[in-house]
Amino acid sequence: MTNNYGPKESCGVFGVFGHEDAAKLTYFGLYALQHRGQESAGIVTSTGTSIHEYKGMGLVPEVFDEAVLNGLHGHIAVGHVRYSTTGSSITKNAQPFLVSYAGKTLAIGHNGNLTNAKRARRNLEQMGSIFQTTMDSEIIVHLLARNLDKGIDEAIVKAVSEIQGAYSCVLMTENKLIAFRDPNGFRPLCLGILNGGYIVASETCALDLIDAAYIRDIEPGEILIISEKGLKSIKPFPKIKRTFCIFELIYFARPDSNIFGKNVYSIRKKLGEMLAKEYPLAADFAMPFPDSGNYAAIGFCHASGIPMEMGVIRNHYVGRTFIEPAQSMRDFGVRVKLNPVRNILNQKRVVIVEDSIIRGTTSNMRIKTLREAGAKEIHMVVSCPPHRYPCYYGIDFSTKGELIACKHTVEEVKNFIGLDSLCYLSLPGMLEATGLEENGFCLACFDGNYPIQPEEGCSKLCLEY
Ligand code: SF4
Repeated sequence: MTNNYGPKESCGVFGVFGHEDAAKLTYFGLYALQHRGQESAGIVTSTGTSIHEYKGMGLVPEVFDEAVLNGLHGHIAVGHVRYSTTGSSITKNAQPFLVSYAGKTLAIGHNGNLTNAKRARRNLEQMGSIFQTTMDSEIIVHLLARNLDKGIDEAIVKAVSEIQGAYSCVLMTENKLIAFRDPNGFRPLCLGILNGGYIVASETCALDLIDAAYIRDIEPGEILIISEKGLKSIKPFPKIKRTFCIFELIYFARPDSNIFGKNVYSIRKKLGEMLAKEYPLAADFAMPFPDSGNYAAIGFCHASGIPMEMGVIRNHYVGRTFIEPAQSMRDFGVRVKLNPVRNILNQKRVVIVEDSIIRGTTSNMRIKTLREAGAKEIHMVVSCPPHRYPCYYGIDFSTKGELIACKHTVEEVKNFIGLDSLCYLSLPGMLEATGLEENGFCLACFDGNYPIQPEEGCSKLCLEY
């Protein structure tokens, strides 16, 4: 699951149709999806005739209070939590993105990244579109607006046929909720029901919190239109090979969610078991850096017979920012969040179970604190292969320079972090642990085989010119 140090997820989306408490349900849904984006949050609602909107920078409970929610009237809602993967982190770029066009109002929340954003935006600008933000999501709205005279169903088919990349979206008009997902199915999106009202969410953990029942996933390439008439599913594209983001299972999604038809907790445990099978190690105990690696560590200990300990304790009450001590205190930022337990670590051979190493700088600081606490040997096992290639589908390592394993061998990474040994799970081991079809995943950040080739210059700030 994302934390303040690891790679960041692009976004979480949530939608409600046909429930009198649409805004409050969306608030709780976003609360459950907070791990997918912590920079901004927003909710847009509709009564069928009037639209209400509230967005802000910060965590969901920082942005909304009771009074704000009470002002968001309506039985339809879309909500969004954002971490910026295209466009800066500023209020203007917070979502859902709301526009009025030719007497119609649209609000969209988008999870993922478009890989043809620059080209698509340039084309639209040449045809007279004026953009308000630097988000790729706005491109979808402009494409929709150009075809609204044909009705929303046809407009949306036309819009999605002109975009490429990763998108799991919720879209609201005055009287409809529309969920759509790219044909590759990079990011998850599911459908649920609560008291006769429909719910759409990035992950099933959001359904659980509001006590909604899971119905099914929105299928890759599907456009699901929810209105007073019920559900209408459109599948306008030929079925192509699915490329679910495997990193959702390893790291991003919440362990209590089921995504791509699998329970995330069980997969992470299995990844840990595979690690133990691939790397038999002699150690006094194994531990995660909470909360990353928790579930892989359970599997690793289970399969290896090495006992599990919590060699560092996480302070759950540290916010995203804190006042730094006046005098510089060594590694304060690390220790304020994770404090080593000296009595447990002293003179021990320790295996750290990690879910990923992206830049390596956080691991380096953390290992230093374990050494200072007296650990005799420190080995690290990682529940996926080295990240050697950038992600263009909505994860925030979009340049090679951000990835330590891109330019360095495993031995060099081991030395940089300060470990006695470092072992990454093999690609076949990772795939076997998922129990899913081998060719149903995107593995591009591990093997460089991009399911959709990004256009040149595709990056987080590519639309800021
Ligand atoms: S490149 Fe990696 S992180 Fe990005 S979608 Fe593919 S598997 Fe997921």
